[in-house]
Amino acid sequence: MAGILSAITLAEAGLTDFTVYEKADRLGGTWRENTYPGLSCDVPSHLYCYSFDLNPDWSRLYSPGDEIEAYFERVAHEHGVVPHVRFGDEVVSCVFDDGRWHLTTAGGVHDDVDVVIAATGVLHHPKYPDIKGLDSFAGARFHSARWDHGVPLDGARVGIVGTGSTAMQIVSAVVDRTEKLSLFQRTAQWVMPAVNPAYTAEEKAAFRADRHLMEDLRDSVAQLFDHFSDGIVDARSPEMAMIEQFCVDNLENSVTDPELRERLRPDYRAACKRLVVSTDFYQAIQKPNAELVTEAIEGVEGAGVRTVDGRLHELDVLVLATGFQVDAFVRPISVVGRGGVDLDRVWVHRPEAYLAISVPDFPNFFMLNGPNGPVGNFSLVEVAELQIGYIMQLVDRLRRADAREISATPEALERFEAARIDAAGNTIWASGCRSWYLDDRGIPAAWPWPFREFRAQMAQPEWEAYELRG
Ligand code: NAP
Repeated sequence: MAGILSAITLAEAGLTDFTVYEKADRLGGTWRENTYPGLSCDVPSHLYCYSFDLNPDWSRLYSPGDEIEAYFERVAHEHGVVPHVRFGDEVVSCVFDDGRWHLTTAGGVHDDVDVVIAATGVLHHPKYPDIKGLDSFAGARFHSARWDHGVPLDGARVGIVGTGSTAMQIVSAVVDRTEKLSLFQRTAQWVMPAVNPAYTAEEKAAFRADRHLMEDLRDSVAQLFDHFSDGIVDARSPEMAMIEQFCVDNLENSVTDPELRERLRPDYRAACKRLVVSTDFYQAIQKPNAELVTEAIEGVEGAGVRTVDGRLHELDVLVLATGFQVDAFVRPISVVGRGGVDLDRVWVHRPEAYLAISVPDFPNFFMLNGPNGPVGNFSLVEVAELQIGYIMQLVDRLRRADAREISATPEALERFEAARIDAAGNTIWASGCRSWYLDDRGIPAAWPWPFREFRAQMAQPEWEAYELRG
């Protein structure tokens, strides 16, 4: 998504000498990697798309994953991105020397470039759980982001580990196909209710005839998300109280068995963990063939999962919906900046970047959806568009030959980090739960200010935050 966006933006600015490096043999990013049943995006599709290529044909408010992937592929083709893509070869190192970046791929290609835009995504490398005996399972076992479509689910006994957004989507999609579905819940999740109406042929025709309708819809959804961001960055805000009430009401009104309801009730505040949005999870988990398993997992055996109460949950298929390594960002690419500074060393404790874009001593190296940016219940497409607009202003300084090297100053990063950590304490993410938003110190790593503040910051660089050389 972000790589395609970068290519289109560069070409529009008249910069046609660029290469998009894609390690896979197809475009699509997260929408290519994730193909699990029920995959969809819980950001409405009219916001989760490029502002310059609105799509009248979205099938639903929240469209399914394959439709989103097809959208990005179509845009890439129509905007002439594909001839710029080098497929099937992975960048393994980027070294800054003599004022240029020297890229090396696994296939042995060496390229010298002036600017690197890292559009490598956030939630990319699967995280496998450390569960005893996992390898001994005799049935089919895979991570949700490595779905094995050759494994039959119909009539199977399926176990799912995890209760994040991924697991919830899978449960709803597969429960009716399985003989038995066991959801292994370590931590309960708050679920934001949603409806997902299909767009009618008339609505799509109206969108096609008048793009303002799509723009208006996009604006109104963006406003809702702004209110949401106002809530989550201020745990004491009335917006946050509203979000919580929606979730509590959803649980109270949807789950009839009081015992199950209590087992599904989290002991922390809504949106502390990344909020799950679902039209039908509670309905799915109440089906007669579904079981919510809340006893901790003791280990995995040939026949299934054994929980600490001694019970063996016999399974044919075990799905690990256990999330991603969230602090990898551009890594495992080896990135070496000015004076031999190694990004792995700079990020030895945790990744950080000024405004999520630039790291001191890594000149002309800019990140999209990098560390400390807005993640979670937002449109990462909107985030990336704002970021590329900002990055292009940095690139412009290089083009105008004001400088040959540009990167954030250490002082700017230090100031940003101090303010960010201070603000992070007010967010709902810091209200007491375990989540992938928290860094190794337990401090929320995501952008801790309202989304409109992000828009304002991305509108124009504060040039004193940058060091220009050469
Ligand atoms: P996740 O939110 O990180 O959830 C991982 C789940 O696995 C958690 O429930 C976790 O339990 C559980 N888990 C991990 N290790 C375990 C172990 N050893 N034993 C038992 N349980 C274990 O991962 P995800 O659901 O793949 O979602 C990741 C992110 O992707 C989301 O937060 C969201 O940002 C994005 N996403 C978005 C959408 C969308 O519609 N936009 C859809 C899917 C995913 P604990 O809670 O106890 O740690």
